Amino acid sequence: MEKVIVIRYAEIHLKGKNRGYFERLFGVNLERALKGIRHELHRTSGRYLVAGYPEEMEEEIFTRISRVFGVHSYSAAYRVPNDVESIVEAALLVAPEEGTFKVETHRADKRYPLTSMQLNALVGARILEKRRLKVDVHAPQRTVYLDVRENGTALIFGAFEEGAGGMPVGSAGKGLLLISGGIDSPVAAHMIAKRGMSVKYLHFHSYPYTNDGAKEKVVDLCRTLAPYTGTRVLQTVSVTHIQEEIHKKCAPELNVTLLRRFMFRIAERVARHESAKCLITGESLGQVASQTIEGMTSSNAVVTLPVLRPLVGFDKDEIIIRAKKIGTYDISVLPFEDCCTVFLPDFPAIKPKLSFIEEEEAKLDVEALTKEAMQTLERIEF
Ligand code: ATP
Ligand code: MG
Repeated sequence: MEKVIVIRYAEIHLKGKNRGYFERLFGVNLERALKGIRHELHRTSGRYLVAGYPEEMEEEIFTRISRVFGVHSYSAAYRVPNDVESIVEAALLVAPEEGTFKVETHRADKRYPLTSMQLNALVGARILEKRRLKVDVHAPQRTVYLDVRENGTALIFGAFEEGAGGMPVGSAGKGLLLISGGIDSPVAAHMIAKRGMSVKYLHFHSYPYTNDGAKEKVVDLCRTLAPYTGTRVLQTVSVTHIQEEIHKKCAPELNVTLLRRFMFRIAERVARHESAKCLITGESLGQVASQTIEGMTSSNAVVTLPVLRPLVGFDKDEIIIRAKKIGTYDISVLPFEDCCTVFLPDFPAIKPKLSFIEEEEAKLDVEALTKEAMQTLERIEF
């Protein structure tokens, strides 16, 4: 008898001809999540099994698996040869000491000599010989699950833990997230990664107006997201000189709008370098002055890559609930200056006209400023 962890995949089975590709990618992601823990990962039909791990690492493995997208559910199980005696022995380890229970069999091996009903009855009866329990097939306090596999083994377990769902990261290409130190953009990363997109990070700072603490905070956010996204690199670019130029030459109510356009231009260049196929932001419609359809239109106008805004229809409190769930909230609320707040105007334009924006922007050497910003590109591995 051997302890294993059974991992069932989520939507992968929907993918028809691509199934093999999805399964392999999922396996790669599981391996990455389990890095540093001794284990073997086996693929059986419709499942992955983690075996050969140190007992004391089981909780840690659960935690890590719970953050891998594509996992539908997982269970700690006993793997035994599929003869009745071995199954009963393991079933007794899973069955409760008191109360009500039932046995529920799933046969992947349809040639197994006993039907599911026969196995339920037989194993149930053997458990009843040893324990003072009651069978309740409708609402048992505990279920003993038997999964008869095709390779002469059976898996016996007592619970299904819910997985993170979604698609394996990497199955939907790559995108570049504009990550601030705020609450929203990390949540956007999580949502997009859940749909299978591999997320790269880009952060803009205004050193020396913003300090190392602000940068460290963003690294911390990325580190917290890493178990979900798999990414361990953050790129940063300084926009200080751009903000100073805008401040000096342009209408103050357009500060945020103009800076946003520079951010998008720079992000697009970084994205092309990374073979990322889209930009991702944490914008949500109407949340702040720049997050109007006019504001979004003005930023979209300077790039050709699509811009994904997964939070566009969310209220702040919905976003906060998610941020707390994924563990980024407490970091996001730490009080460090974000570059946007440094030159914040008293009255930002809520519905800036594109013609006015372009007029004001014409006072700047856009290409030179963008190039200069690209020179400050840094990679932080964490
Ligand atoms: P967040 O909570 O993500 O900071 P926010 O509600 O504060 O968002 P804004 O400051 O308007 O909203 O930023 C909107 C989006 O623009 C952010 O979600 C992020 O994608 C991007 N962004 C803003 N500031 C930066 C920055 N310093 N570096 C990278 N991206 C940024
Ligand atoms: Mg912000």
